[in-house]
Amino acid sequence: MSEARLRPRRPERARHPWIFAGEIAQLPDAPDGACVRVLDHRGRFFAVAYLNRRSKISLRVLSWRDEGVDAQFWHRRLQAAVGLRAPVPADGGRRIVNAEGDGVPGLIVDWYAGFVVIQISTLGIDTARADIVAALEDLLAPRGIYERSDVPERSLEGLAPQIGVLAGAPPPELVEIVEEPARLLVDVAHGQKTGLFLDQRLNRAAAARYAAGRRVLNCFAYSGGFGVHACLAGANEVVNVDISPEACELAQRNFEHNGCTNASFVEANAFDWLRQASDGDEIFGMVILDPPSFARGRGALEGALRGYKEINLRALKLLRPGGILVTCSCSRPVTRRLFGEVIADAAADARVELQLLEDRALPPDHPILMSAAETAYLKCLIVQVAVE
Ligand code: SAH
Repeated sequence: MSEARLRPRRPERARHPWIFAGEIAQLPDAPDGACVRVLDHRGRFFAVAYLNRRSKISLRVLSWRDEGVDAQFWHRRLQAAVGLRAPVPADGGRRIVNAEGDGVPGLIVDWYAGFVVIQISTLGIDTARADIVAALEDLLAPRGIYERSDVPERSLEGLAPQIGVLAGAPPPELVEIVEEPARLLVDVAHGQKTGLFLDQRLNRAAAARYAAGRRVLNCFAYSGGFGVHACLAGANEVVNVDISPEACELAQRNFEHNGCTNASFVEANAFDWLRQASDGDEIFGMVILDPPSFARGRGALEGALRGYKEINLRALKLLRPGGILVTCSCSRPVTRRLFGEVIADAAADARVELQLLEDRALPPDHPILMSAAETAYLKCLIVQVAVE
């Protein structure tokens, strides 16, 4: 293996798996996509990483041990990831490989009731596709493996999108997964991400525990998951809002599939819808806000915080004392603390007291790498408007 040499690393980045161009003293003479030995500034072994000069993150660490990266390596690494989720529920949905959180930057692997969906965002992983697919076939014996590598990050790596069957049978138009007590239909080929927001699995169940007897507003509903769970838990009515017509259609199918009536599906920009509803006289017993990321980089932080403030303030105006707000953020630069401050700020403007009931994050099939704070992106607060 060729060798790269680092500059002295800042202590807080000592074990961060992303090595930026500016942290590198000498690049190796290997082709982009290849694995290289990385030496520290004193010339001692540091890590094994894959290289891409085109990316600002020129090296991404695959191992802290001095080892080769071959088919056996991939099998061992993916076996550890599968072991952490064992037993993988045959008819359920689970994340099997969570990128950095499983020691594989650039790779996501999701399981939907027998179908595996993989998403590759870097050249280093793209190069290892065949070994990864072989290991997944051996470890999970899936009915099929489908690729959804259509993420925008690929262009930063010089890669075109790749979509299609990699092994076995193609997935049906909709795959049904069991997310107790719901049965959710997942559009693996055309849906958002790999078909479902698996990171919200336990938060959907947690939110539902407050839904009985309430009129629920499910904003940024996608395929309706939070709403279906609320309905099955005894909500009186669920209003779902999403800007995407495909999402609204799939949400409607999911409600029907679960025998949930008394629901409506509004194709609208949630910002506009919330503004109109809160200026009118709509009242809900529970509001769920699960917007997409508002900030990809640090530059967008201010705008993102304004966005969260706006929708949370509007949501609070739709609730009465005793009402429940389930408010989420998946924006990486918005820390848990900043998000909490925005919600408190919105409450002050709405002149209500909020009681924090649950301060939630990612489920255990989405492990967070503690040396890479940006992997802990999901915040989900369940708060009650205090009864005076
Ligand atoms: N709560 C969902 C996931 C939501 S993902 C679940 O549990 O599955 C975010 C959703 O917000 C996407 O479906 C996207 O179509 C929608 N969205 C994005 N911008 C929006 C906007 N301005 N108004 C309404 N919906 C929007």
